[in-house]
Amino acid sequence: MADGRQMTRDLTTLRNLGIIAHIDAGKTTLTEGMLFYSGAKHRVGSVDKGTTETDSDPEEQDRGITIYSACVAFEWKASRINLLDTPGHVDFTAEVERCLRVLDGAVVVFSAREGVEAQSETVWRQADRYRVPRLAFINKLDREGASFETVVEEIDTRLGAAPVPIQIPCGEGPSHMDNSFHGVIDLVRMRQLTFDAQDKGATITESEVAEEHLDMARLWREAMLEKLYAHSDELMELALAEQPIPEQLIHQVLRQATIEMQIQPLLCGSALHGIGVQPLLDAVQEYLPSPLDMPPVTGMSWGKKGGRETTEERAPEPDDPFCGLVFKVVPAKTGDLSWIRIYSGSLKANSRVLNPGRDKRDNVAQLWQIHATRREQQIDEVSCGDIVGVIGLQQSVTGDTLCDTRHPILLEAIEFPETVISMAIEPETTAERKKLESALDLLQRQDPTLSIRANEMGQTLISGMGELHLEITKHRLLRDFNLDVKFHKPQVSYRETIEQAVDVTGECHRQIGGQQLFARLVVRVEPSEHDTQPVVINQCPIDSVPIELLDAAVAELESASQGGGLIAGFPLMKLRVTILGGEFDPESSDEVAFRIAANEAFEKALRGGIPALLEPIMKLDISTPEVHLGDIVGDLQQRRAIIARTDNRGVYSAIEAHAPMNELFGYSSAIRSLSQGRAGASMEPLAYATAPAEVRREYEI
Ligand code: GDP
Repeated sequence: MADGRQMTRDLTTLRNLGIIAHIDAGKTTLTEGMLFYSGAKHRVGSVDKGTTETDSDPEEQDRGITIYSACVAFEWKASRINLLDTPGHVDFTAEVERCLRVLDGAVVVFSAREGVEAQSETVWRQADRYRVPRLAFINKLDREGASFETVVEEIDTRLGAAPVPIQIPCGEGPSHMDNSFHGVIDLVRMRQLTFDAQDKGATITESEVAEEHLDMARLWREAMLEKLYAHSDELMELALAEQPIPEQLIHQVLRQATIEMQIQPLLCGSALHGIGVQPLLDAVQEYLPSPLDMPPVTGMSWGKKGGRETTEERAPEPDDPFCGLVFKVVPAKTGDLSWIRIYSGSLKANSRVLNPGRDKRDNVAQLWQIHATRREQQIDEVSCGDIVGVIGLQQSVTGDTLCDTRHPILLEAIEFPETVISMAIEPETTAERKKLESALDLLQRQDPTLSIRANEMGQTLISGMGELHLEITKHRLLRDFNLDVKFHKPQVSYRETIEQAVDVTGECHRQIGGQQLFARLVVRVEPSEHDTQPVVINQCPIDSVPIELLDAAVAELESASQGGGLIAGFPLMKLRVTILGGEFDPESSDEVAFRIAANEAFEKALRGGIPALLEPIMKLDISTPEVHLGDIVGDLQQRRAIIARTDNRGVYSAIEAHAPMNELFGYSSAIRSLSQGRAGASMEPLAYATAPAEVRREYEI
């Protein structure tokens, strides 16, 4: 039952935080540590034993990767932190992007041994795109081969970032080595922090910086201050005059520059051994933004009864009309739990909201907050800046805006790439077909990057972002929904387009039912650079053809361009269709005539523009021990790959390659066997490109 608590709070102390990292960098272990030290959990879970808080989906535990993000709230000193768990696997880019969209700040975790890995670059760029202020955390300093300095350097040069180390490690490497990693030096306060191994680092001893680290610490502190000069004249003047610099001033400058995305304070530790986690939480509180520090969101708004569209801003004002974004849907026994970031106003339980993108009203029956300690708590009202789970929504899916019914606003939609691979599913019985439909409906509400349609053979076709994406969907259908269905082999999702621009004239000269019909339409169809669905534009001079006839022609061109191409009927894309002109006759022109002319023009253009088959190209990020580099590159060349970049980084090398999806089936196991299990790859859709003749021949009808 609701306990009547209203979630109106001091927004300055709220942090909507994400931890983003390359897979295996230690994100889950770090999350566990945070929950443990905040007092929310009495035991540190272990990813290696499958007992962590955030990897709640059995599929995630099986695979040891975090696929579906969840939100856990906990208190740290004066703040409350909403921690969104983001997936580390780039095959789930859309999940990462959805989370980034609703976060206010992030901690990016790097492994002190592997450093900036191929995927870290991908997530870093995503965070840039969504303008998420960041802290960097160099983890695993207790591992053999750990190098703090190398990783700082890499973050600087490879990511083009502006890391400002505010800590340095005391020692590096495992406990059996001399000078093993045992604590950190806080460069702002010039104090040494030692973490007690007996209680997993819960007890921290603070002391003067030990003699052996003092010179190093002074150098790093100076470097830190110098990096801050550009952001504060006051700090620079004090430093140059060799005056004492107040601790508070350093905090303030670090905070301001972090929020403005000018710098990333950098900390370090070992999540597994409980070193450096509490100071990282302090830094989250100290330097990362609250919802009030973030710029207002913008969206399209319109009057009550349609009316003109305007761009509107919404700031985190509790008294403004409500607006929020659904960023995740999780199935729950009591009904789907939809996770919402609230941008303005407040949301009450038992209320109605508008889903402006679908022009539907929806029900907010219950509001839930997931606490790490009490697990969950039902509340009556939640205010802007916060994140809440809603039960009751029927019409809304991930990516949808919700708003006050009287004050519509449509926030910018979350964009997803085109799907690149599909798999046919056939239920064995009619009863199974019903079950399959409802299971797929649920999966699609959670994951809009999964597309579902029927093919010509009456099979259900599911399409997604990669082989792993479909594999996981398959496992969920079998395991979570107990379906008895037949899965076909995954197939590449081809598309079609034309190679060159053509101007064509489509005409209608017909007698239908004793009546003469006439229309003439001049249309240009040209390939477009962007991987988008075909677009139809009307540039017919005003007054040459009545608007209702042109509207009919536009609708016809839109529907024709949704159909298949001439090579093998694959969906069309990358096309721009422009109506350049037309002729009509007041006696014999009508909508039907213009539809016929539009159709004729489109068909002529597809033929005249030279049809081309497009195949999806994937971006591969590979990390491999140097010794296997040659084999892996050789294998990639056999797969028609273009090597975009290789970086040799001592023992490990990073490769970025672009290769057709068609050549990448089973690639994750292939790369493992090429490298005795030591190399890893991730892939995501990059673009659609013209397929070579030999691929095209296979599909030509
Ligand atoms: P994620 O994939 O980023 O969530 O990484 P996990 O938290 O699952 O960690 C990957 C592996 O690294 C697990 O076996 C962890 O026990 C291990 N690990 C995590 N943090 C540390 C650390 O600080 N030191 C060492 N030596 N191992 C760690």
